[in-house]
Amino acid sequence: MNDDNTGSTGDAELELLVVGSANADLVVGVERRPAPGETVLGSDLAVHPGGKGGNQAVAAARLGARTALLARVGDDAHGTLLLDAQRAAGVDTSGVLVGGAPTGVALITVDPSGDNSIVVSPGANARLTPADIRAAGGLLAAAPVVSSQLEIPLATVAEVVRTLRPGARFVLNPSPPVPLPAEVLAACDPLVVNEHEARVILGEDAGDSPEEWARGLLALGPRSVVITLGSAGALTADGSGVVRVPSPKVDAVDTTGAGDAFTAALGWRLGLGEDLATAAGYAVRVGAAAVTRKGAQDSYPTAAELAEVAG
Ligand code: ADP
Repeated sequence: MNDDNTGSTGDAELELLVVGSANADLVVGVERRPAPGETVLGSDLAVHPGGKGGNQAVAAARLGARTALLARVGDDAHGTLLLDAQRAAGVDTSGVLVGGAPTGVALITVDPSGDNSIVVSPGANARLTPADIRAAGGLLAAAPVVSSQLEIPLATVAEVVRTLRPGARFVLNPSPPVPLPAEVLAACDPLVVNEHEARVILGEDAGDSPEEWARGLLALGPRSVVITLGSAGALTADGSGVVRVPSPKVDAVDTTGAGDAFTAALGWRLGLGEDLATAAGYAVRVGAAAVTRKGAQDSYPTAAELAEVAG
């Protein structure tokens, strides 16, 4: 556990390495979206730290996991904001590379009904290369669990798989979903998907129930599968069977980033030695806590706050 919250894991052993994206979310409220060629006035700009990699790292560190982030941000104000948010949560940012392109941003408009329209500029995230992974060999050699997503190049994720230390556990949330090479699928333990991601990866023959999706996904080669089911919790599947993991009942306010918190918590607990269903039971409580507050990283619980969530 990270007791000192100094922004560094120091000499203590790393528990979770997140390799992924870091974005600044730029949010403006609008009465309506502009037509082509039109300008509309919106609310004051709100800037939030985001990106699936950044979200996962903050979620784990807030829970007390000794966490490091391997990512790339630009040499600009957004990059500084993102690094500050990671350090404030206690994440080791020694693996965050700076420069090469502007920091990734998500340009988000929100209308009065709460619907989002989002344009993502991947920026520096798209420049996190396989060579960057090879150069971070020390971090990968120290990591018992590595968690990734697909807001960085797929070739970079494939290099992560090749660079894992022997016996290390690899957790992948394939979001945004694309067809995955066999080499990456075979390393996933687990592959963590929501319904949308399961359907995209499985295609037309996905079937209708989470149990069917899980069986279909397992047949693609991962060692285990976890399907997140929103307010219904999650489902785990591996060689020993399929288990439904119910969620505590909560008043959901904002589900942004809940899946990222779930996945980070799951990976951390697996690394501590919990079995898949037990770790998923912890992760659904983290996901449930995250949806009770607005925002992504701002909504993530500390261990003390999680204790308030009925299990
Ligand atoms: P994503 O955020 O990727 O779309 P889900 O909607 O399945 O994925 O949510 C991920 C996790 O967050 C769920 O497994 C659950 O633990 C938690 N969660 C999401 N929505 C709710 C909700 N309404 N009530 C309780 N927990 C929720």
